[in-house]
Amino acid sequence: MNCRDASHALSQVSVLLELHDGDRAVVKAMQTASRVVSALGEQALAEALTGPLSGAEDLPPAALEVLRDLAESNSSSLLERLQEETPEGLMEMLRVPGLGPARIRSLHEHLHIESLLELELAANDGRLADVPKFGAKTADKVRKALVDLRATGAHVLWQHARAEAERVASVMRSHPDVLRLEIAGSIRRRTEIVRDVDIVAAVRGSPSVVAASLAQYCGAQEVVGGGGRTLALRLDNGVRVDLACVRPEQFTLALWRASGNATHVQQVIAHAGSLGYTMALDELRDRTGTIVPIADEPTFYAQLGLSYVPPEQREGFGEVDAAARGTLPAVVQEADLRGALHCHSQYSDGAATIEQMARAAMARGLRYLGVSDHSQSNTYAGGLSRDRILEQHAEIDAINAAFAAEGTDFRVLKGIEADILPCGRVDYDAAFLDRFDFVIGSVHSRYGMNAEQMTNRVLKALDDPHLTILGHPTGRLLLTREPYAIDLDAIIEKAGRVGVAIELNADPHRLDIDWKACRIAAKKGTLVSIGPDAHSPQGFENLELGAAIARKGWLEPRHVLNTRSAEEVLAFARARRG
Ligand SMILES: [Zn+2]
Ligand SMILES: [Zn+2]
Repeated sequence: MNCRDASHALSQVSVLLELHDGDRAVVKAMQTASRVVSALGEQALAEALTGPLSGAEDLPPAALEVLRDLAESNSSSLLERLQEETPEGLMEMLRVPGLGPARIRSLHEHLHIESLLELELAANDGRLADVPKFGAKTADKVRKALVDLRATGAHVLWQHARAEAERVASVMRSHPDVLRLEIAGSIRRRTEIVRDVDIVAAVRGSPSVVAASLAQYCGAQEVVGGGGRTLALRLDNGVRVDLACVRPEQFTLALWRASGNATHVQQVIAHAGSLGYTMALDELRDRTGTIVPIADEPTFYAQLGLSYVPPEQREGFGEVDAAARGTLPAVVQEADLRGALHCHSQYSDGAATIEQMARAAMARGLRYLGVSDHSQSNTYAGGLSRDRILEQHAEIDAINAAFAAEGTDFRVLKGIEADILPCGRVDYDAAFLDRFDFVIGSVHSRYGMNAEQMTNRVLKALDDPHLTILGHPTGRLLLTREPYAIDLDAIIEKAGRVGVAIELNADPHRLDIDWKACRIAAKKGTLVSIGPDAHSPQGFENLELGAAIARKGWLEPRHVLNTRSAEEVLAFARARRG
């Protein structure tokens, strides 16, 4: 076992235990053990696990248990449980210098803060200063630390970046010389993590004069780059904004240029060149040098003989060729989704009742909802015993009967998010799994397996005929946890072959599988289920981003399981069961 990894795991355990208000003595013991282990050699560490330690303090039993776990399976079940139990946003907040676990816990308790964005709002509106043991000085320190974190070019999740961008954009739109203003760049392309905000504005008068005026107007702390009509700004909250101001007739091409990635933009310009067009200063000129007026992006692509490429697909991933050949797929829209097959209720770790979740899904335009609470092995997320499942099924029957009686065309399906156990078995047994309309199988433990072990584990789960969907197939948590080692191609291939769908989990912290893997699924004929993994009624908003990521991965409606009707989904699950 590598001592540095072991020491890191122990320190993470201590941090998360403290975040959860765990026993002070155990927290301390883990901290000490982390230090002791980091100073040990590999040999000494191995000896420490078998006998009394010579030359160093004895390691406390709790730490020894973590270390034995690590030595045996390359992962610690305690650490995994703590990671699962901790809201992702709290782990993100640990990245803020000076904000330790005790303070984060206090913020969570007193202000229910669960994300960097909420933290920033509270720091700015004065609420932070009122939290016990904080005060104005500490609140100010946190505010400055957040600014520093941003200024170092830290990445943020798409949803946080968009919230920032919307705020800046709405301020800038109120400037008297701004005629039109849009957010471009990676936010518009829906990349899962974002570094800076790109904004394009059509303005009255001189673009460079308005750009300078806008920089002041939005409270930019400094201009860190650019010049003239394009400026790179740093706002006082540390956010980087690349601002381009143009004349109204240049707006479409400026927005287009600022939206695609560099490869996409180059390829389109090269394609235009091959047709005799030239592009400069956000103007398109034909062979005679005459400016071709471009009203909007679809007109622009059409002018070049290309099919329209939606912003999400402008990644230089073969889309320009496909657009030229007319083979670009008609990608899925959120409106194509007829149901959602991954949500949690109060039965496990969700915040709302099944009926509330169903009504929220209905309000989002869906016709069915698959409830998939956690299974019995998942004790830390309130996994359901058999008895609780039977109660839940009775409740679902009653809700469906009530919907039918009131003439509501909506159906709740009986699902489960069953743990894929380390041995590759799906939680419960065959007879009990038969009770569910569909089964999602997910890995929630032992992430530290090597690629061969993890791949075998999931391949084995795919052999279970009860499995309908493989949940969040790589286990990644964006910015906080790497995907586990797994041969995803082999998994996608087998899932397609045996008739199991793989999930595109639309939680903005996950977006798992990655959009690039969606392309592979489509090629191999493996169905994808866009799952909101909603833990509250607001969680259905995840479907918007989920559909956008599916577009990024070139998925058409026919590639997506939940564009089908409830009957068809049930038939899909039954077909797998044989
Ligand atoms: Zn899960
Ligand atoms: Zn889930």
